[in-house]
Amino acid sequence: MTHDQAEDQRHLARAVALSREHMHEGAGGPFGAVIVRDGKVLAEGWNRVTSTNDPTAHAEVTAIRRACEAVGDFALHGATLYTSCEPCPMCLASAYWARVSRIVYANTRQDAAEIGFDDSLIYDEIPKDPTERLIPMDHLPSLEARAVFEAWANKPDKVSY
Ligand SMILES: [Zn+2]
Repeated sequence: MTHDQAEDQRHLARAVALSREHMHEGAGGPFGAVIVRDGKVLAEGWNRVTSTNDPTAHAEVTAIRRACEAVGDFALHGATLYTSCEPCPMCLASAYWARVSRIVYANTRQDAAEIGFDDSLIYDEIPKDPTERLIPMDHLPSLEARAVFEAWANKPDKVSY
């Protein structure tokens, strides 16, 4: 699949502009994102972690939430996520959950690590056994928790995602 490079550069430049603008304004870290589908901007986002005390308010997650709200859907098939920096594991996972079709980024995660945003730690944690991770994880099996899963599996009117 070929992509319009001028379009890509225009949307990515907007993501970068958002990162600069909202960093200076004090919203949070230097990260911006734009979600586009069929040439139409669905939403913009920027990092708002420190101004909202929300550690999940990364630019991409914010843009995904706004785009989904704008289109009234929990999936963004066919959309491209433009982001000023390669997504961290949370944002990458969010892009998968949101079913975006493509990600275009400017700065790399190595660039981010150089200015103090080192998400390689999280990338390293993911493949580890839960018992080997820095945050201890204790597995406590629950019959009730299993029963809820069975109820979901048998729920006739569920909305799958
Ligand atoms: Zn992120």
